[in-house]
Amino acid sequence: MSTVLSENAYNPDRAATSAPAPLIDPFARLISYLRVSVTDRCDLRCVYCMAEDMTFLPKAEVLSLEELDRLCSAFVDLGVRKLRLTGGEPLVRKNIMWLVRRLGRHLNTGALDELTLTSNGTQLARYADELADAGVRRINISLDTLDSNKFKAITRWGNLEQVLDGIAAARKAGLAIKINTVALRGVNDDEIDRLISWCGECGFDLTFIEVMPMGEIGDQRLDQYLPMSMIRSDLAKRWKLTESDHTTGGPARYFNLEETGQRLGFITPLTHNFCESCNRVRLTCTGNLFMCLGQDDAADLRAPLRASDDNALLTEAIHEAINRKPKGHDFVIDRRHNAPAVGRHMSVTGG
Ligand code: SAM
Ligand code: SF4
Repeated sequence: MSTVLSENAYNPDRAATSAPAPLIDPFARLISYLRVSVTDRCDLRCVYCMAEDMTFLPKAEVLSLEELDRLCSAFVDLGVRKLRLTGGEPLVRKNIMWLVRRLGRHLNTGALDELTLTSNGTQLARYADELADAGVRRINISLDTLDSNKFKAITRWGNLEQVLDGIAAARKAGLAIKINTVALRGVNDDEIDRLISWCGECGFDLTFIEVMPMGEIGDQRLDQYLPMSMIRSDLAKRWKLTESDHTTGGPARYFNLEETGQRLGFITPLTHNFCESCNRVRLTCTGNLFMCLGQDDAADLRAPLRASDDNALLTEAIHEAINRKPKGHDFVIDRRHNAPAVGRHMSVTGG
């Protein structure tokens, strides 16, 4: 863990007299993007993400929606311009639309540029219109296959039709859609072209993700791992990919696909180091702030949140956390490193 303090680092003595200091970490990266896992629970059990018999966080430890609103709003006050709700499955949290609408007020004031979600799509038929109405303009939907038997096998009990209906509803509601596909060796590697064509026909962007070593899942991750470099060089034989300058400050590298006109992204945490431009931190539904997806260090924001009704303690705790954001992650998957690099599952911090 780094304790280096840069000249940009938060200084509580200065903070009392001036406007809130922006969130700048010791490596001079401006933190403008917060991802919030609103629940670690999910209605699916994707094999790379969860064990079948998952133990979830005790409900008593989970922040209320009002507390999540207060926490997210404190980050917005400190200069966060983009919020992504994720999970677990964000749309299975009870009354989640209350939170989405509440956070939507920051879009109306101009304090926030974007409020968005990552979802598995199962509940979208029900919520797509409401999300659009609350100010959500884009959504990431995870879909690893267009084959209903494979879908069932990957998600352990999911129903592909339900997700396709949800995707259709999101499209009809006018939401821009990006499909996220985890590339799984021997499972969906034969569907890559089909997924690209389908996304092209529907007008969706598509991002392929490498399996990351997070949490015990009871399966051999080494068997699932399919390096993006292999997919990319194989695709280049059949598709015209030109490098795009589009960036989100995250781990994806984007290409334009000449044949479909859509954008194609590759998230390569294991084969490409993306940390130097990292602009994000991740909040769990219990109020733990993870400064890096690939490290275990976290800051408890629930205690300062609950300790007082004003945000002074909370703001100080957020700045202290940002002051120890590490330079990068330590993910490795190979035969010597078959154990998870971090013990928590992706559903805790939401990817
Ligand atoms: N339930 C929602 C969904 O599936 O989109 C949001 C949460 S899910 C944890 C966020 C993203 O993480 C999904 O795209 C999922 O495929 C991806 N994911 C989960 N576990 C992963 C792992 N071990 N390696 C790589 N991606 C993973
Ligand atoms: Fe649920 Fe998303 Fe994890 Fe699948 S990837 S089990 S849908 S949280």
